[in-house]
Amino acid sequence: MSEDFYEVLGVSQDATEEEVKQAYRDKATEYHPDVSDHPDAEEKFKQIKKAKEVLTDEEKREMYDRVGHEQFVEAEKRGGAGGPGGAGGPGGRGANVGGMGGIEDLFNEFFGGGSRSRQGDDLVTRISIDLEEAYRGVDRQVTVRRPEPCETCGGSGHPPSADERTCPGCGGQGQQTTVQQTPLGRVQQTRTCRRCEGEGRLYDERCATCDGDGQVRREATLAVDVPAGIEDGQTLRLEGEGAPGDRGARPGDLLVEVRVEDHPDFERDGADLHHDLVVSFPQAVFGDTVAVPTVTGNAEFEVPPGTQSGRTFRLEGKGMPELDRRRRDRYGDLYVHVQVYVPESLNNDQREALETFAEAGGEEVEPPQSFFDRLKNSL
Ligand SMILES: [Zn+2]
Ligand SMILES: [Zn+2]
Repeated sequence: MSEDFYEVLGVSQDATEEEVKQAYRDKATEYHPDVSDHPDAEEKFKQIKKAKEVLTDEEKREMYDRVGHEQFVEAEKRGGAGGPGGAGGPGGRGANVGGMGGIEDLFNEFFGGGSRSRQGDDLVTRISIDLEEAYRGVDRQVTVRRPEPCETCGGSGHPPSADERTCPGCGGQGQQTTVQQTPLGRVQQTRTCRRCEGEGRLYDERCATCDGDGQVRREATLAVDVPAGIEDGQTLRLEGEGAPGDRGARPGDLLVEVRVEDHPDFERDGADLHHDLVVSFPQAVFGDTVAVPTVTGNAEFEVPPGTQSGRTFRLEGKGMPELDRRRRDRYGDLYVHVQVYVPESLNNDQREALETFAEAGGEEVEPPQSFFDRLKNSL
């Protein structure tokens, strides 16, 4: 992207719009990818189109001439996708640069201008809830320290009785406009007056509470409505509860990160829960009615006769509520994973019974001898 748009079209800097259009038609015919066998036809054609687009638009061309090729391309890249300022910023500044927010931003950055009032910062806090609370939803209170408009002075930074005068720095305009020669040509720049910070007025007293800032840091306690079905790591956004913006700009948001504590009985997977159920060998063989925990209390569960270890059963609707509001009142499932418990030691009766069981099935079991048994037998 080293070639500037005039070079791309092969016209002079003072070419008329008609000359630009004619040059575009000629070049486009030459490089159109459908007809040209030039190796870079496609890329070249794009450049030609871009050059024509900018140089036939009075505002864009003016900006292009002012900031130069590299800066212009860079700014378009940044602002092209509907960047900030595209929606016509405050103060009517959007009027003469319609749809070119990126360029305007760059321009401000470059020349230190800009009187746009800044939106307040987002603040972040965290809360921790347990699985039952995540199941039902819960109202929590969070306390955050955040800047707030000073109540003593109503955010103005000075007592109402303070004597005021017009700011001599800007003559009450709140902005200073200067014309400067820069390497990019003659540039008129407008910046917020440093002396009055854009207010246009000066006061002979400062508010003692906020020392003239108009803001104080204060603890605020806010109610957070945590919806049922929330998952670990999700964030709730309390709009407008962050730090206040400058001079009436929108305040930021308060982001509440939610941690859902682990539960000893369940593994969670979205709206589904998983539970490991341990049953005895006879329970697995004969079947049994057992209690399995759910988030709201125990539920009866029928272990069918002949249940294999590792088998999974689905208890429909016994999981967590769906967070998605379109699926409100729907619940996930509880998966019960059956594990047959193998006893590690047996009393004599159990041993005999099991040996009888094995024999009855025609099974011969020869347990490996333990170290001590072997020792005993060798003596
Ligand atoms: Zn001023
Ligand atoms: Zn104050």
